[in-house]
Amino acid sequence: MRIAVYPGSFDPVTNGHLDIAERAARVFDTIVMAVFDRPNKNLLFPTADRVTFLREATTGMPKINVETYSSLTVDFARSVGAQVIVRGLRAADDFETEFQMAQINQRLAPDIDLVYFMASHQYTYFSSTRVRELASLGADVSWLVPPNVATALQRVYADRRHGG
Ligand code: ADP
Repeated sequence: MRIAVYPGSFDPVTNGHLDIAERAARVFDTIVMAVFDRPNKNLLFPTADRVTFLREATTGMPKINVETYSSLTVDFARSVGAQVIVRGLRAADDFETEFQMAQINQRLAPDIDLVYFMASHQYTYFSSTRVRELASLGADVSWLVPPNVATALQRVYADRRHGG
């Protein structure tokens, strides 16, 4: 049984994340999408929401599970019996960060390998940050995210615009 962990902030999950998870599910038996509870960045959505959006968006995908974690990614991977950590690569600047993380993880857990999937061309140019930025300015982001996320983003920013 080949288990892979796909970790991230998923704030919120986008179609780019889902594309990587679906492609990884063709290679591995189980993908655990792991929502990091306390990333070193300002979050729009609390962990419970980030997990709910992902669970809803992956309902029809039996090989994909969603969990949350707050430890080192390699420790979480070990705790679920994963041999592999999956990440997506969009452009050259992703490479620099991922290369650093890979070197560190290899040192921490030589038994766990990192596997990278190149972003599909239609998702190469967007990130959760861009999606939040567009939604905050009132743009339609329904082509970039699953429907539940589009609705949540609309609600959050409409509330903010109305002082909620
Ligand atoms: P993190 O905070 O760990 O970078 P993200 O949620 O931003 O978490 O991203 C998780 C993973 O998904 C990273 O490997 C990132 O490169 C990848 N990713 C993000 N957006 C896309 C996309 N549009 N296409 C492919 N991979 C992506």
